[in-house]
Amino acid sequence: MKASIITIGNEILSGMTLDTNSSFLARELGTIGIPVALKISVGDRADDINKTFKQALAQTDIILCTGGLGPTSDDITKKVAAKLFGLKLKFDKKILDHIRSRFAKRGIEMPACNRGQAMVPDKAEVLFNPEGTAPGLLFKKGKKILILMPGVPREMKAIFAGSLKERLEALSCRMKINMLTLRTTGISESAIAEKLIPFEKGLAKSILAYLPTHIGVDLRLTLSGKNSGQIDAKLLELSLKIKQLLGPVIYGQDEETMELIVGSLLKDKKLTLTTAESCTGGLIADRITNVSGSSDYYLGSIIAYSNILKEKMLGVKSQTLRLHGAVSKETAIEMAKGVRGRLGSDLGLAITGIAGPTGGTDKKPVGLVVMALAGPKGTVALEKRFLGQRRHIKESSAQAALNMLRLYLLKC
Ligand code: AMP
Ligand code: MG
Repeated sequence: MKASIITIGNEILSGMTLDTNSSFLARELGTIGIPVALKISVGDRADDINKTFKQALAQTDIILCTGGLGPTSDDITKKVAAKLFGLKLKFDKKILDHIRSRFAKRGIEMPACNRGQAMVPDKAEVLFNPEGTAPGLLFKKGKKILILMPGVPREMKAIFAGSLKERLEALSCRMKINMLTLRTTGISESAIAEKLIPFEKGLAKSILAYLPTHIGVDLRLTLSGKNSGQIDAKLLELSLKIKQLLGPVIYGQDEETMELIVGSLLKDKKLTLTTAESCTGGLIADRITNVSGSSDYYLGSIIAYSNILKEKMLGVKSQTLRLHGAVSKETAIEMAKGVRGRLGSDLGLAITGIAGPTGGTDKKPVGLVVMALAGPKGTVALEKRFLGQRRHIKESSAQAALNMLRLYLLKC
């Protein structure tokens, strides 16, 4: 059994929208053991969509398709599929009631064009969309299955999880593909590879993948087999070996983010945090507050971008700024102490740096970032250098500061 994934929309062909749906679906199909043989993106043109459906139906058994189910005139996927399967569109009151109730909850009247979304091909199965107005649709002809889902990723994922995953799993050849990802930061891909030489010896090539980004390297382990429990046990065993070799550069696993890990450490240790940000402009605060419940340990932040605010809001001495500059250990330490003392937290995390592309000098180049952490036992500072564009430097800096905090918390 093989699958195709078709993503529909002019915005995908033009590159204006990144096609994340196909990678999500391919990964999901992988985990339930259905190989993807075709992936095609096609524009909002009936003829092209029709030809693509025919090609996919000829070459594969299950076709998962996203996009073109909206209420506007460019959304034609449903009509093309109905025609291809020789079905007529009929009105479905249940769908209209669902669409109406979604608008009512937002206190607005349903626009007339949304009525069209309640027209569904007779004999096609309707797949409930808990996140939006356009339902998914499942067409069957013999052993071939064509599934239509909306393009909005959140809606597509909800339909897949709610109506499809289990069913497709039952159809699959039962070969499971499970993954486990270990997330590292503060270490290069090549340095990890060196440390993992004993681990990789004799390991099949397809099992370990290095996935580097500017904020860290993810290590993804992939194993397949018939028994999901056995695969997971083996993945756990392999991950423990990697953990032994790499130690605390691993901050989390699978979907765990740095802010989630830092948040749970602060909670466990019953410590509160404040931040003082210069070059990151609030990015650290943004990340910390991405975690629901972060108000338990996070009090807030002072974004002191200018020297004047560093003095006024954080109490950095003008002499420190004059003698050492805004990007220096001395300034970072005073920022950390200042935010901790003035906002009254257990820990104060501060960061200052040169995000570029302007403002660098020979002594203090673009990418130089200094961070400091003030706590009850004193203040520590750390200097880092990053390469890349402004946004990347800001994101790398925020990650490094959070990692500094994590390593401190692990020891206290
Ligand atoms: P549609 O269902 O075609 O009306 O798509 C609605 C919106 O979903 C589009 O404007 C895109 O922002 C988004 N979208 C559509 N297809 C994809 C895709 N393959 N990957 C990610 N987002 C998508
Ligand atoms: Mg569209």
